[in-house]
Amino acid sequence: MTSIAFYHTLPEEQPFAEQWAEQHHVDVTCFPFELTDETLHTVKGFDGISYKQRFRPSNDPDFYRRLHDEYGIRQIALRSAGIDSIDVKAAHEHGIRITNVPSYSPSAVAQLALTHILQLLRHVPQYRERNAHQDFAATGLMSRELGELTVGIIGVGRIGSTLARMLHALGVTVLGNDIRERDDLDGIVTYTSKDDLLARADVVSMHTYLDETTYHLMDAHRFAQMKPTAIFINASRGPIVDTQALITALQHHEIAAAGLDVIEGEATLFGHTFTPGAPTGNPAYDTLVAMPNVVITPHVAFFTDIAVRNMAQQSLDDALTIIQGGTSDHEIRLD
Ligand code: NAD
Repeated sequence: MTSIAFYHTLPEEQPFAEQWAEQHHVDVTCFPFELTDETLHTVKGFDGISYKQRFRPSNDPDFYRRLHDEYGIRQIALRSAGIDSIDVKAAHEHGIRITNVPSYSPSAVAQLALTHILQLLRHVPQYRERNAHQDFAATGLMSRELGELTVGIIGVGRIGSTLARMLHALGVTVLGNDIRERDDLDGIVTYTSKDDLLARADVVSMHTYLDETTYHLMDAHRFAQMKPTAIFINASRGPIVDTQALITALQHHEIAAAGLDVIEGEATLFGHTFTPGAPTGNPAYDTLVAMPNVVITPHVAFFTDIAVRNMAQQSLDDALTIIQGGTSDHEIRLD
């Protein structure tokens, strides 16, 4: 029977992996630990690999040679869209093909961005803070309504366009900015420049991918272009935003509020547990989380039943296809 090692299994993923294994008559062994130099030996006897982890399994290119030559592995199926947790070049040099799950659920991420928008629009964090002090007054916290709002989406791709459709259905005026404009959003999104979007939007939501062209796309100059009443949302990647510039913009009331699912330096923060009240080692996070007009979730926009099932089962589909000598549209090619 074909066998696949499923590394770094979350408890929520395991039922989906087991369901797939039963349907496909494949042995899927769920390991709780990550694939690393130390755990490499556990791949012995398996035909393929699925994993999702924040760090590369090894920085030693010999790792991939060993996987292929010593253990006969010919593919690794990542259960993530991002491919930064693998050295694709080194893997290819040793005959190991890599797949990812490019789109596991745009709705999941769009819905969390919408959640942040609504919480900040209706001042939920401020009410929570007042309630904690038995203060149930609403003075100073009157909200605007969705139908009055203009939301600007920077990066109108899979997730940005999904959010645009949701907001449009709720009566919001949606502006979009992208380096490539889609033609399926007529009547839903009005494309404009970043300068115009930032000046007009009551909410700015970031949905670009991260590369050298989008690193610190939102910097001090960009925040200064926003309305002082505007809400800023980032559920894409932390380094798209200059976090210090965001903190300054909030402190100087250049913008009104921020909702974040990602933050620079999050790899040593999210997914870990710290002593309550103790510094986390990420001073920017500590500053932001103490602000009543900031909502932070620990990179969980993807974390829904549909997205987790798609990540697990699409990666297993790809692993099996490649083990059986087939090809997958999700294969990473370095041209
Ligand atoms: P996508 O590739 O479909 O869309 C990204 C869009 O950004 C594209 O349309 C692209 O043309 C546009 N873009 C690139 N550079 C730009 C620029 N300088 N200005 C304006 N637009 C630009 O990607 P996606 O699947 O929609 O993912 C969007 C982001 O969400 C990515 O950063 C991804 O890593 C992140 N993401 C986060 C989570 C989470 O859990 N928080 C989950 C999945 C994806």
